[in-house]
Amino acid sequence: MQMVLECECGWSLQGPEDALVEATRQHAREAHGMDLTREQVLAAATPTETG
Ligand SMILES: [Zn+2]
Repeated sequence: MQMVLECECGWSLQGPEDALVEATRQHAREAHGMDLTREQVLAAATPTETG
């Protein structure tokens, strides 16, 4: 499933669920010093119409 996520800092990403979760967790760690769980990432992501 394709999903899109927009961070509060303006960073955004669209991609397959697994890749989006990994990239978002890395972004949160590097940019915000946060350790997100997969569930937290998926709660903030939105499925796209085109996926
Ligand atoms: Zn961010």
